[in-house]
Amino acid sequence: MRPQLLFPLFTSITTLTGVGAKGEKLLNSLCGDKIIDLIWHLPSGLVNRSYSPQLISARTGCICTLKVKVLEHIPPQTKKQPYRVVCTDGTDQVTISFFKVYADSIAKNLPLGAERIVSGKLESFNGILQISHPDYIIRPEDIDKLPQKEAVYPLTAGITNKMLGKVIAQALTRLPQLPEWLDNEFVRQQQWETFNRAIVRAHHPQTSADLEPGTRTRTRLAYDELLANQLALAIVRERVKKQAGREFKGSGLLRKKTLELLPFKLTSAQEKVLKEIHADQAQPFRMLRLLQGDVGSGKTIVALLTMLNAVECGAQAAIMAPTEILAKQHLETIQPLCEKIGIRAELLTGRIKGKTRQKILEELANGEIDILIGTHALFVEDVSFKDLGCVVIDEQHRFGVHQRLSLSSKGNKADVLIMTATPIPRTLVLTAYGDMEYSKIDQVPEGRKPVDTRVMPITKMNDVICGLQRKLAEGARAYWVCPLVEESEKIDLAAAEERFESLKKIFRNDVGLVHGKMKEKDKDAVMEQFKKGEIKILVATTVIEVGVNVPEATVMVIEHAERFGLAQLHQLRGRIKRGFQASNCMLLYAYPLSETSRSRLNTMKETEDGFEIAEKDLELRGGGEILGTRQSGFCEFRFADMNIHKSLLLTANRDAQMILANDPNLETPRGQALRILLYLFNKDETVQTYRS
Ligand code: ADP
Ligand code: MG
Repeated sequence: MRPQLLFPLFTSITTLTGVGAKGEKLLNSLCGDKIIDLIWHLPSGLVNRSYSPQLISARTGCICTLKVKVLEHIPPQTKKQPYRVVCTDGTDQVTISFFKVYADSIAKNLPLGAERIVSGKLESFNGILQISHPDYIIRPEDIDKLPQKEAVYPLTAGITNKMLGKVIAQALTRLPQLPEWLDNEFVRQQQWETFNRAIVRAHHPQTSADLEPGTRTRTRLAYDELLANQLALAIVRERVKKQAGREFKGSGLLRKKTLELLPFKLTSAQEKVLKEIHADQAQPFRMLRLLQGDVGSGKTIVALLTMLNAVECGAQAAIMAPTEILAKQHLETIQPLCEKIGIRAELLTGRIKGKTRQKILEELANGEIDILIGTHALFVEDVSFKDLGCVVIDEQHRFGVHQRLSLSSKGNKADVLIMTATPIPRTLVLTAYGDMEYSKIDQVPEGRKPVDTRVMPITKMNDVICGLQRKLAEGARAYWVCPLVEESEKIDLAAAEERFESLKKIFRNDVGLVHGKMKEKDKDAVMEQFKKGEIKILVATTVIEVGVNVPEATVMVIEHAERFGLAQLHQLRGRIKRGFQASNCMLLYAYPLSETSRSRLNTMKETEDGFEIAEKDLELRGGGEILGTRQSGFCEFRFADMNIHKSLLLTANRDAQMILANDPNLETPRGQALRILLYLFNKDETVQTYRS
């Protein structure tokens, strides 16, 4: 249970005055619906209202605070004209203009002959000084009400900075006095203030330098965030490690037979990681290992050999993929091999229902099935194994730490191997997995030809079509990936359908379309046609739909490549790297092209090295967001910025280790305070593993 102290922060924002149903909706879309979400929403800019010049010598283009007398009201003659109010400060005149504002409210705020303080952006329009829609109009006696320094927040349509500033100020008053969860000596060395002071100060920048992520104030917050992250991961890891494991030292017979069936030899990188994995499996502890390998590096076979070691010892194994299509792809690789070596591998997904499902469940429970291949459905409670000893999670960045654990709890001290496709820089491994052991397949099978990658504007469509025609004539198959606009699947779909229709005019029945809204059955049918070569161009909307291994597919066209993240582009391109023929990737972009997009596309042209791409991605995005998707399971940090807080992460990592070494159940006063930190940063599930 969340500590009572934090209740005020986790109540709805509707408890604030001035936040109604509409406000709640807007604020929720902007930052969240809890008080704490407002508190986390830090300013990105600063308005300084201290500049109060005489009009005659005033600089234009900046915020000015003026003391003026109202001379004249000029109502608009046409609808397009603003309502104008001419004022003077005795040195010059300034026109204050309003569009679509009721005359009587203007008359009330700026009555003829009255003196007022007006603050807003002063501009010069045809030689006439002007402020349109001033931020503040107040009576001279109320000058105290004018904020000298005003934080500017990231906004969304429908919310003004003034409104947001007000609710955030209110939210800050709900902040309880929180205990210090950091080591006092460390805080002193760093010259940090308390969390409470830091968060309040972060909302009251005094200079624009105060907005930088590297300020002392924001660094304290970043550290709190990183410590919560590292501590949560360390707790999860300790919990898994504490559990005794089983020693799997198989005879090697099934593995040997499998290797003999393969048309290739393992790469030395594959052999190296298998050695590391098998060594873990032989230990009397539970394995919890991360396997990293670029697209096409051959992780599937490593997964199979890992599972076979457990099967050789009489246990069952499971491999879980993030999508149905990927699960089926594993099935297609694994099942035929298993048949030949005399063991059973079956598929179980959410779509398998009724009698078939019942039968699989029975055979799992009585141990007839040796290897289960599945999707999230494996989490479903009715699935129970006779003796699950090894779980491989083909992650592709879709699961969170807790899901990982919930599956492994199905096993009897099961070993867990997590596989990720996108190479992750060391810093991100740490933020996403903590100190998990990891193995890296740092080599792809030999003989693969590099992909010829070209970047071109979409206006060169004719050249693309001609190129494609040539390739198809040579017998190639092609993916055509259409843009991904997260918020609107409808628009995505329309664009893909339109492309499909226009390609159909040229390539006739050679074109097929798959998209997320299609029934699984229909999707499968189209995929099958593409695999068999009955269709030669596959138009697809999302990354997931092209997760299939079709060695003949050697061409990939990505439309609006500028909208994809580097990691996604790399993954997509990986799909055509599987064959041993030359392959072509065409990245089509449309203007406007941001500096970042341009740099991303160039990186794609320059390198195929996943690690290099990942590092570049990290640099371009500046951190947590590397995989481009929210559901990635990777943290997106609010305060920590991996470009400047890298060393802080390492400190937080060590700090977390030390904390758990000294106070494994977080029971000391500092431990209790750390529990609050964990709840504050939404690590509830982790803290709940402790029974209080
Ligand atoms: P990923 O790591 O992306 O999951 P896969 O396991 O799907 O890669 O392997 C990609 C392709 O490479 C498959 O067609 C697989 O059969 C092949 N492959 C795997 N290991 C080797 C190897 N040592 N030599 C040659 N081809 C290999
Ligand atoms: Mg794979």
